[in-house]
Amino acid sequence: MKKIALVTGGSRGIGRAICIKLAEMGYFVIINYISNTTEAENTLSLVREKGSDGEILKFDVGDFTEVTSVLGAWVESNKDTPIEILVNNAGIRKDTLMMWLEPGDWNSVLNSSLGGFYNVTKQVLNGMLVKRYGRIINIVSLSGLKGLPGQVNYSAAKAGVIGATKALAQEVGRRGITVNAIAPGFIRTDMTQDISEKDMKGMIPVNRFGEPHEVAELVGFLASDKAGYITAEVISINGGLYS
Ligand code: NAP
Repeated sequence: MKKIALVTGGSRGIGRAICIKLAEMGYFVIINYISNTTEAENTLSLVREKGSDGEILKFDVGDFTEVTSVLGAWVESNKDTPIEILVNNAGIRKDTLMMWLEPGDWNSVLNSSLGGFYNVTKQVLNGMLVKRYGRIINIVSLSGLKGLPGQVNYSAAKAGVIGATKALAQEVGRRGITVNAIAPGFIRTDMTQDISEKDMKGMIPVNRFGEPHEVAELVGFLASDKAGYITAEVISINGGLYS
């Protein structure tokens, strides 16, 4: 039977690398994105190059109504093949100091990461519960563990997802569903384009930024049936920057 994985924010960066890894593992990958159709199509080509297949599903993870109608309709019409792996990866940064943090930048960052976790997981969980198997992997951040200045919104969003990860893991463990979070440090993607690796790398014991495929390898392990006894965890991948 076709095994299905859903990766939110799969059009670029870490999400794309995760789509490729899951394709390599034989999964049919649903690639979600919000606006960059060309890059979503490029991810689908890369998935196909791995000998697997996929489908593009455009929706804003932060919009409950949209997620319910688009993803909900997909789930409804694919009842025989429930999503086995969910990677809640979509997220944005809107950095500024708290004194200048406007409601729009507070809400959009909270909506995409924390709201996205709720909106998307809500659509997918039932199928996992019925099947008595599932892997939910939430991409959080070093910022959600340590807190970083200029990222009060982002740190709050990611810390919120960490709490949700631990709580949900306890609700669904008996049903064969694991729920874990991965907390990357600095990874080379569009999101970190404005951060100078040259200036920052001295603070990182491994002396470089990480690559998206390095995060994807960890996702691949947590997504496998070998990782069935790991749940409610937050695993850092940050080159030793923070532990
Ligand atoms: P990125 O290169 O900026 O890519 C972001 C992805 O998320 C894109 O595919 C984008 O779609 C999608 N997206 C954004 N908002 C969305 C929404 N509301 N609904 C659906 N899709 C949405 O980011 P990245 O660096 O790969 O980051 C991926 C995840 O890792 C994020 O949660 C981020 O917070 C986390 N993270 C990243 C780093 C890092 O150093 N890069 C470190 C720690 C944590 P479009 O292409 O359509 O815009």
